[in-house]
Amino acid sequence: MIIETKNGYKYIWQSQVDYLGYVPSEIYNYVEGSLAEKGYYYKKFHYLKEKGFFQNSLRRNKIYIISDDDVKREFLNTPQIVFEVTDFCNLNCKYCGYGDMYENHGKRHSKKMPKEYVKSFFDYLTKNWNDIPSSRDNIVISFYGGEPLLNFEFIKHTVMYVNGNNQLRGRVTYSFTTNGLLLNKYLDFLVENNFNILISLDGDEISNDYRQDWKGRVRFQEIRNNIILIRTKFPEYFEHNINFNAVLHDKNTLKGILDYFYSEFGKIPMIGELTPIGIKNQDEYGKMRRSFYKEFVRLEENSPAAMSKYRTITPLFRESVRFLKTTPLLCYERGFRYLFNAKSKTKTALATGTCIPFSKKVFIRVDGKITICEKIGDSVSVGELNESNIDIDYRKAAEIYNKSVSRYSQKCNTCPRYDFCNVCGLTDITRGRVCSPISCLSSVSKILGYLEKDSQAFSVIQRNTITL
Ligand code: SF4
Ligand code: SF4
Repeated sequence: MIIETKNGYKYIWQSQVDYLGYVPSEIYNYVEGSLAEKGYYYKKFHYLKEKGFFQNSLRRNKIYIISDDDVKREFLNTPQIVFEVTDFCNLNCKYCGYGDMYENHGKRHSKKMPKEYVKSFFDYLTKNWNDIPSSRDNIVISFYGGEPLLNFEFIKHTVMYVNGNNQLRGRVTYSFTTNGLLLNKYLDFLVENNFNILISLDGDEISNDYRQDWKGRVRFQEIRNNIILIRTKFPEYFEHNINFNAVLHDKNTLKGILDYFYSEFGKIPMIGELTPIGIKNQDEYGKMRRSFYKEFVRLEENSPAAMSKYRTITPLFRESVRFLKTTPLLCYERGFRYLFNAKSKTKTALATGTCIPFSKKVFIRVDGKITICEKIGDSVSVGELNESNIDIDYRKAAEIYNKSVSRYSQKCNTCPRYDFCNVCGLTDITRGRVCSPISCLSSVSKILGYLEKDSQAFSVIQRNTITL
């Protein structure tokens, strides 16, 4: 299969061996049949063709069906445990996924997770480590809300519990996302225990118009004061442990967000869009939503020099990292193997980019329900935790996963994005409708075109990426 970039360069993608290589125009002339001359490139082209190149044969992968044992293994080795410590928040942001604009969540009851859940959960985990030892050196415990600092008691209890447990001490780091309003109150404890903190803030004061409290007040100045307090009191901690997360919408701009955080705090924030899953009010969502990708492309076209310092957060940069991790552009080994007739083997592989349940995180809701991921909404619970017990249905989790990816598996088998796919079958609201040979090929072409044009991005990724 030939992939052409918008800069006019051509590549061959050989699906049987996942080989991608540059095709010089001298060879491409023969692919097209536009040259009859029988010189050096003619011979080369026909030699490659005889060996199976330039033919649209399909990959013969077998899609792996996961079992309950796979899920259990991932659970016991999970890199991250997320406790929803409260469903209450001291802000009432207009676009909040638990607010009026969405319908895929249950009613919020201003609950707090009881601190006894910590022992109950880790007793189960560490007891099972006797059968399947965990080799993880670092487990992240994250506190999720609502506003997690409204249940500081739980957070403090977790740290004390971990410090008193031989199997956990020294293996755990902590993180949470906060609106920043209560940071001044608990700062010393958070610094002492090296918490990684992500502060949600949409830019300057006007950009935070949707982030109001229950009385309709924008609390930007208090949050900013807290951030300045951290930076003044603990500059090194601020440098390493504090990051920002902004949402792009119709009350701010991408350039405004980036410039605000860079000039005010010397940071490049993470930027997201409004959540597209579970929307109740489509009109309001449509009015507020802005596309990060479109804005970035526009900005890059208008002022490429000013945007170059922000390149690492662009969707194309990130997709290129995933792409280059799995596609060795500068290593022709796969092509050589194919050329010398070492038959391509049938691989057994997972379809889509959906993670095996619990391989990225275990998410425990405030009511003790255990779910695969916080992005999926409230309905998909696969277990329950309480003060004294935990019950997990590994089979149900495996079935949910297998059913979800089976919608895609046929398409995945012929897809050029297969090795670096980032489609999650559980959260993809298109249910695979946008996956087609043409759209997937065009996304590879976009990445290649981007890397051809931005040689600095290419070399940054190459220097920092291990190719799998
Ligand atoms: S969004 Fe999908 S792939 Fe990502 S962690 Fe959640 S379930 Fe896994
Ligand atoms: S982009 Fe779609 S078809 Fe391609 S591998 Fe991912 S899920 Fe499968």
